[in-house]
Amino acid sequence: MFRISQYMQEIAQPSPIGPARKPPGPMVIWNLIRRCNLTCKHCYSISADTDFKGELSTQEVFAVMDDLKAFRVPALILSGGEPLLRPDIFEIAARSKAMGFYTALSSNGTLIDEDMCRRVASADFDYVGISLDGIAATHDKFRRLEGAFDRSLAALRRCRDAGLKVGVRFTLTQDNFHDLPKLLELCEQEEIPRFYFSHLNYAGRGNKNRKDDAHHLMTRQAMDLLFDTCWSHQERGLVRDYTTGNNDADGVYMLHWARRRFPAQAAHIEAKLRQWGGNSSGVNVANIDNLGKVHPDTMWWHYDLGNVRQRPFSEIWRDTSDPLMAGLKATPRKVGGRCGTCTHFAICGGNTRVRAQQTTGDAWAEDPGCYLSDEEIAA
Ligand code: SF4
Repeated sequence: MFRISQYMQEIAQPSPIGPARKPPGPMVIWNLIRRCNLTCKHCYSISADTDFKGELSTQEVFAVMDDLKAFRVPALILSGGEPLLRPDIFEIAARSKAMGFYTALSSNGTLIDEDMCRRVASADFDYVGISLDGIAATHDKFRRLEGAFDRSLAALRRCRDAGLKVGVRFTLTQDNFHDLPKLLELCEQEEIPRFYFSHLNYAGRGNKNRKDDAHHLMTRQAMDLLFDTCWSHQERGLVRDYTTGNNDADGVYMLHWARRRFPAQAAHIEAKLRQWGGNSSGVNVANIDNLGKVHPDTMWWHYDLGNVRQRPFSEIWRDTSDPLMAGLKATPRKVGGRCGTCTHFAICGGNTRVRAQQTTGDAWAEDPGCYLSDEEIAA
């Protein structure tokens, strides 16, 4: 995850370059349930509105939480499918909060009516992320449900008014690029404090729709818009959090933006970006799926590291006898092609390995999702 706002803040008010921050354990994105009331085009878990067999029971989830706590995992992102369809979701959330985890809910929002919002608010989630794929008809088409946009927007407003920290999650494709400016305006008008921009990754349903992926030029335009919007908020003193995911080349692209717009601060931004270090799948980000299988992140569902039913997460995560985990945990990672010769490897970390693996069969080939030119990776 790349935090644009953090670097905009560094342009406005540079802070000392300290040692790189090492989280005590990985943040865990936990797909507690695969069932979903929607069947979105870009869903990585290929969910459906039906019960999936063999999902972790409440007691199994609790046992895993004990292990995660002992392993010093700081945050649990409760996701799905649609996590609110899990009957014990509030029990799990209450326990997570009581154990001191930063606890976030990732929802499509369509089930958050007044009553559900009260329950979500009383669970005191630290963050509630709701997906919007565009404005009105665009979103409904993606979500394959008429009226989904109105329901999700109403949910955002309800959660915001209930005092929860809410955010919009948006996944860019060619079919919703045109709505991005309007969506950013909507978030500003509605005073939504967070905007999470996800690049479409090659996995799950996203893989099947690869030809619909945003072209690199469009990605660059989207990033320029995000940077300019975020900087405008910074200048106006508006506290907003802009983050991106699934393409760590964003950090390098931002460095070039900073060099053009704020040359005096560019060296400082570069140092801060190097400190961030880019992709951390398999290191600072982990995923547990609905069946208890552990993956390096949510885009690696086709690759199991082990199952929490057989081995504790803490053991699975440390086990570098798995070749993928050994490679992901190597510092620096050994990546070939243009990533191997990239001047900015220390910023990006070689980006998202799953794209390389799915397009070439080699997880250590260059990332085909890099949208930077040869000149930009050389200087
Ligand atoms: S070439 Fe590779 S390491 Fe360099 S910015 Fe692109 S994806 Fe990142």
